[in-house]
Amino acid sequence: MKTTAPRSNRNTPAAQAFNAEVIRSQFPALSRTVHDCPLVYLDSSATTQKPQCVIDAMVHFYSYTNANVHRGVHLMSQESTLAFDAVRNKVRQFINAADEREIIFSRGTTESINLVAHSWGLANLKEGDEIILSGMEHHSDIVPWQMVCQQTGAIIKPIPILDDGSLDMAAYGSLLNDRTKLVCCVHVSNALGTINPVKEMTAKAHAVGALVLLDGAQSLSHLTVDVRDIDCDFFATSSHKWFGPTGIGFLYGRRELLEAMPPFLGGGDMIRSVTFEKTTYNTLPNKLEAGTPNIGGVIGMGAAIDFLARQDMGAVGAYERELLHYGTNLLNNIEGVRIIGTSPNKASVLSFVVDNIHPHDIGTILDQQGIAVRTGHHCTQPLMERFGVPATTRASLAMYNTLSDLDALSNGLQQVIEVFK
Ligand code: PMP
Repeated sequence: MKTTAPRSNRNTPAAQAFNAEVIRSQFPALSRTVHDCPLVYLDSSATTQKPQCVIDAMVHFYSYTNANVHRGVHLMSQESTLAFDAVRNKVRQFINAADEREIIFSRGTTESINLVAHSWGLANLKEGDEIILSGMEHHSDIVPWQMVCQQTGAIIKPIPILDDGSLDMAAYGSLLNDRTKLVCCVHVSNALGTINPVKEMTAKAHAVGALVLLDGAQSLSHLTVDVRDIDCDFFATSSHKWFGPTGIGFLYGRRELLEAMPPFLGGGDMIRSVTFEKTTYNTLPNKLEAGTPNIGGVIGMGAAIDFLARQDMGAVGAYERELLHYGTNLLNNIEGVRIIGTSPNKASVLSFVVDNIHPHDIGTILDQQGIAVRTGHHCTQPLMERFGVPATTRASLAMYNTLSDLDALSNGLQQVIEVFK
């Protein structure tokens, strides 16, 4: 595999305030080539690349400290347990939760939402109750609720989406009533980039006595999140979306809610005592974390939080907005390209369609030029239906992207259009 020399960014104000080249140099994958071209990685909403510090933390753990947690009296198990437990407090600080028992490690966003659905949902929902879901939810925040509704008789009410890809907040207001038990909303849309007004939505939901679950899969690479400021009841995320490893993430839940919730999975670690007649459960967080956890993943997630804590997220936000603005102008200047999702409050995601060219063809030809984009429905089929398209091409950016990456996308797209002329 070949690697390439770093490419320069422009001398713009946000680029000067935030040095993307310094960031890029920490991500080994970004200097590889693809089909003999320098990699242009524009698929960070699917998963972000990993900085060397995350890779090193996991290599170090598996090289020297690997032992199961919470059960061993031997030194390595104690070291492993210490390192593992320390990450819970790191996560607590990262999202400003009140108590580390409010952090439940999980495989990621999908498992976190399923935990709430199958534990809180089955225990609390009944026929006639209503769950409000935004019309831009990922399938992982739709299907678990459909499964729970089938068993409980609760019903789902979707919030309509406006033409610019933002939520119809007036419609949201009129969907809320005393039958609403839960509002589920994606914080940052993976398909469009829309940043939803989650604090305002939470206040409105609480006013009718409903709880709020936020899908935070995409939030933490772009934004600083403070769950107490937002005041949400649950927040689900996956570390691989914010520079950490795959297969690990967490659920934040308000302590009194988690305390009252029955276990989701049964097994080791989540019990206090077991006899064939009766089992008593452990306290939080163990009650909701059955089995040997993904210890190496938790260590890697901790390193990703350290990486993010070293960044000035205000400067990251300004820089990403500049990337978005620049990329939006480039795409708007190409005939036949239509961006889907133009909300004023948007993360650095460019989802678009091109007249008479299927997204899969676009993605395949761009790949030949080393440009990695995602094509498809992005696990948001109801949203695609809303916009009358089966799929889009999505360029999703993170703090390590540059204006040159967007030039490459624009040039690549023009070549695609030439091929199909
Ligand atoms: N929600 C959103 C908004 C996402 O972007 C994703 C991942 N594409 C998920 C949920 C599911 O995340 P995971 O597959 O890591 O559980």
